[in-house]
Amino acid sequence: MRALVIQDGNLSCRPSYPDPVPAPEEVLVQVELAGICATDLEIARGYMEFSGVLGHEFVGTVAKGPKDLQGKRVVGDINCVCGKCDMCLSGLSNHCRQRKTIGIKNHDGVFADYVSLPRRNLYVLPPAIENEAAIFIEPLAAALQIVKQVPIEPRQKVMVVGDGRLGLLAVQVLALHGGKGKVVLLGKHEEKLQFCEKRGIQGILLDDMIPRQEWDVVVDCTGSAGGFATACRLVRPRGKLVLKSTFAPGAAVDLSPLVVDEITLIGSRCGPFADAINALAARQIEVNGLITARFRLADGLAALQKAGEPDQIKVVLDTKA
Ligand SMILES: [Zn+2]
Ligand SMILES: [Zn+2]
Repeated sequence: MRALVIQDGNLSCRPSYPDPVPAPEEVLVQVELAGICATDLEIARGYMEFSGVLGHEFVGTVAKGPKDLQGKRVVGDINCVCGKCDMCLSGLSNHCRQRKTIGIKNHDGVFADYVSLPRRNLYVLPPAIENEAAIFIEPLAAALQIVKQVPIEPRQKVMVVGDGRLGLLAVQVLALHGGKGKVVLLGKHEEKLQFCEKRGIQGILLDDMIPRQEWDVVVDCTGSAGGFATACRLVRPRGKLVLKSTFAPGAAVDLSPLVVDEITLIGSRCGPFADAINALAARQIEVNGLITARFRLADGLAALQKAGEPDQIKVVLDTKA
């Protein structure tokens, strides 16, 4: 099969990578559409020291598996877990001690014609969700995790920092779950802020922002040390700062404001797929217009390059093209 592979830090598009062989309890999925996210770009730069097929956001069709799944359109949770360790047994299977993560850690990913996944990771899609929307289920689940970890109270002021892929989903989730409070997106790109303004959510350009420590909850979706510093300047004393993105190791960050202002820092990663599917099927979250470029799988390297450009939101790989 064709696959976009990283090996010893080198990316290549391989025309004949070995087809995945499903382990027991695994299902073979033919990938139809895959999304590129910030994590993929970080891995391409060496984060996680991963080797194998890149990519974890996808929608596909079951090619080989149990009868009830055959031919079904599916998305899949990225964490492959053991089900036996202390984390799994306490209901925190996303933190499984033995976990593999597709396209990130010890498991081939989805920028390929096929991927093999544990059956329990798969979610069958309702017809109401098109492939172009389905590739947002994984990042939307990650955005929904914010309100699982930090329930928003009606009068709280909430700011999302970063108007990229994740920020645009996170701010919609927070507006949906934020009661009557104020939810604002802070970003650098006028056209991305307009996307949320069309949905009644206020956007503020970073250059127009006078940072004041007045926000009860600040969510950092920037993926940069500079964005984290901005987030620290916005959260009120005793407020909550949710850190949604990883940034490259070695970045200099000043943590003393968090001590002085007694800020609660909350790391946040993967979230509930079923909730994301329901929110999309109910059209509570808008993802139309977030795909800004579409590439063939064979042009995967160009696609990754494009996804790193500042004006892009979501770049997708189409295996059928
Ligand atoms: Zn992702
Ligand atoms: Zn486990």
